[in-house]
Amino acid sequence: MAATREDIINALKTVEDPELFKDIVTLNMVKEVHICAGAVKVDVELTTPACPLKENIRNSVTTAVMQVPGVASVEVNLSAKVRSMIEQKPILPGVLNIIAVGAGKGGVGKSTVAVNLAVGLALQGARVGLLDGDVYGPSIPTMTGLAIQNPSLRDEKIVPFEIGPAEHVIKVMSIGFIVPPEKALIWRGPMVHGVIKQFLEQVDWGDLDYLVVDLPPGTGDVSLTLAQSIPLTGAVIVATPQEVALADARRAVRMFQQLGVSILGVVENMSYFVCEHGTQYDIFGRGGARKMATTMGLPFLGELPIDMQIRKLSDNGDPFTNFSSAGPSQKQLVSIVQTLAGQISVRNMTRPAGKPLKVDVTE
Ligand code: ADP
Repeated sequence: MAATREDIINALKTVEDPELFKDIVTLNMVKEVHICAGAVKVDVELTTPACPLKENIRNSVTTAVMQVPGVASVEVNLSAKVRSMIEQKPILPGVLNIIAVGAGKGGVGKSTVAVNLAVGLALQGARVGLLDGDVYGPSIPTMTGLAIQNPSLRDEKIVPFEIGPAEHVIKVMSIGFIVPPEKALIWRGPMVHGVIKQFLEQVDWGDLDYLVVDLPPGTGDVSLTLAQSIPLTGAVIVATPQEVALADARRAVRMFQQLGVSILGVVENMSYFVCEHGTQYDIFGRGGARKMATTMGLPFLGELPIDMQIRKLSDNGDPFTNFSSAGPSQKQLVSIVQTLAGQISVRNMTRPAGKPLKVDVTE
């Protein structure tokens, strides 16, 4: 008996996305089913190229379809299309997801995490931009190896700089290229608001899956303005584990929540340090930020150790090497990036985009 399209679809309805906890047909991830004699081809569209569970999904689809009577072979083609929940985007129209990276206070590694999130997402195959919104202390130019310079204009729009290898290019723009930090320091709230808004509207990001925005630390004017002016998908909070830092981190979380911005997750930076003999030291008390995330009901994205290589590569403007050399943080960075991408997909799940299911049967 030949397998029918209904048989295949019913089998696919038993395959759950491991992060989204719904079946892949309901999630509109099955894009095409092709049946030719007993050979079945299924096209599955993942919600992010950074999906950590690609192979699990492939295996589950294969197993489910192979159980249908009459199926002799299964080919699963995986692609990815990042979804967006942002509907009205008067500014940044081609950007699918905007992720703010914030912290309760300075020096906890917020910019470092922002840069590495952008790099990690780009290395997974996503189209990525990185916006340095830290008016008072823009560090993204140094961390990405860009000298302070005037950006060029195209059609009266600011053209972002590009870093990284051709196949994983990241577009980078810093407010530090436009406004010197010493000038920003003497501004009052409304002026900051005006300049930031204008700046945001004038950068030509083109089409991006993810725009990572490095916010200034704390809950001051600039953070508030940015969080209110940009249609954010959500925010990532970076915190170090000690109690004095966590009190500020909680305040930052509450600021976003009061503005209606959801928290995509918490990263614990400088969690611990491993010396050259392999002994681990919990300098700031590992686990504090994880505990904070749990008690506040927030996703925990992962922990990063104190790693001299991260610091050196930041100073040298070479963040891509964090992912290519087997330093103590490489695995954690990839895991944080993938967990974040998963959380963004979860946020976007309520508004699935893309074409409806197309079934093509040639029996
Ligand atoms: P923030 O943006 O929160 O002010 P930065 O990202 O600028 O903090 O980091 C402050 C300093 O700490 C930088 O020199 C950076 O290279 C360093 N740093 C951040 N995270 C780590 C880490 N996990 N290991 C080692 N150095 C780090």
